[in-house]
Amino acid sequence: MKAGATVRSVASGAATAASAQPVGPAAGPVGVALLGSTGSIGTSALRVLDRQRHRFVPVALTAHSNLAALAEQVVRWAPACESYGAGLYAGLVAPQVASQEALPPAWGTGADCLVEAATHPDAAIVINAVVGAAGLPATLAALEAGKRVALANKETLVMAGGLVTEAARRHGGELVPVDSEHSAILQCLAGHDVSEVRRLILTASGGPFRTWSSEAIAGATVSDALRHPTWSMGSKITVDSATLANKALEVIEAHHLFGVPYDRIDVVVHPQSIVHSFVEFVDGSVLAQMGVPSMELPILYALTWPERAPDTGVPSFDPVAVGGLTFEAVRHEDFPMLQLGITAGRRGGAAPAVYNAANEVAVAHFLDERLPFAGIAACVSAVVDALGAMPGDTLDALLTADAAARDAAHDAARDYVDYVKGRVGS
Ligand code: NAD
Ligand code: MG
Repeated sequence: MKAGATVRSVASGAATAASAQPVGPAAGPVGVALLGSTGSIGTSALRVLDRQRHRFVPVALTAHSNLAALAEQVVRWAPACESYGAGLYAGLVAPQVASQEALPPAWGTGADCLVEAATHPDAAIVINAVVGAAGLPATLAALEAGKRVALANKETLVMAGGLVTEAARRHGGELVPVDSEHSAILQCLAGHDVSEVRRLILTASGGPFRTWSSEAIAGATVSDALRHPTWSMGSKITVDSATLANKALEVIEAHHLFGVPYDRIDVVVHPQSIVHSFVEFVDGSVLAQMGVPSMELPILYALTWPERAPDTGVPSFDPVAVGGLTFEAVRHEDFPMLQLGITAGRRGGAAPAVYNAANEVAVAHFLDERLPFAGIAACVSAVVDALGAMPGDTLDALLTADAAARDAAHDAARDYVDYVKGRVGS
């Protein structure tokens, strides 16, 4: 998909994606670099690649620090890669010093290995399944090298949507969403121009606290927040789903991917997570994409778009077993992270990057039990108030804002805890 003109390129017959890389078995397997291969999306992607061996082969894998898991993946996939005529590249971002000697010399280490994998000459497609802003340089590098980026790493678009879509446009790269809501929208849009779209409606499960009182939400523990009702995911996005920050990130992501203004993107709570999103067209007709909640379907679609490949990984849909589909309004007053993020998105400049960075830090503090659940929104709000007006027109400016927001968020988290302790003590 040509970023920024996504809808238009889909509408115009999708020759853009088809021309970039062959996806059919007749053309032989397509090389794939998988960044974040040990995570929730990463391991789902490897299951998809395993079933689709005749179409795709991983040529590069990266992980943050789990050497054992990465080494196991290399042992498993190296033969397929060799028979494809390449050597499997593996990158470990943060190897412990002691284990570094165990790495074969061909392995990459340090943050640069993400970009090395993303620009691997044998990879036509890069699945970016890294969590957080750390995925940005690799997304940019892959797009600048003209590759297709199957993007799960939504923080990339939140932080630098303008730069990322511009990089794709300028260098002929393609951005294809892995996020289920955006994949749903892409599937509903097929054949339609953005001018025919009245509204995008993103669905949200509502997370584990959908029916909780505001008092109970404020006292939620880490294990409460990690108990997602419908999706099994990494811990950061699971907490983001509990605060609804995830949906704010997704609204910003949709704005950049599809070029639809913020006032035409809505969110509705849908606890069953069967309808992955809706598109309302100018004539009032509404299309939805449905399916059982499994990320393997949007991962596969991001690889084969605009075509579909036969696949039996996702269980067949049984409407009777699903029972009722229900929809509710968002309780904005109890989930302030949603509006806070959308407001940052509308504001533009560095505001979305500041929101994203502050959220990453606040969630890390919460997961380490150093910040109560209610402190996440308080902390992010304070940082966006203080730094949201920073410039964000260049990569350097965004990286500066990101770093400043991280520092400020550490301080804000400590201030919040002191404030709460002071109130309890007084
Ligand atoms: P995860 O925590 O399970 O996995 C993250 C992966 O990235 C791991 O392989 C880890 O080693 C690597 N990683 C972590 N920090 C890194 C860093 N600083 N540098 C390089 N690599 C790093 O996360 P996940 O749930 O798989 O989510 C990955 C991305 O996909 C996130 O952006 C998330 O929002 C998005 N996403 C996830 C889901 C899902 O179902 N899990 C759905 C939609 C979108
Ligand atoms: Mg999603």
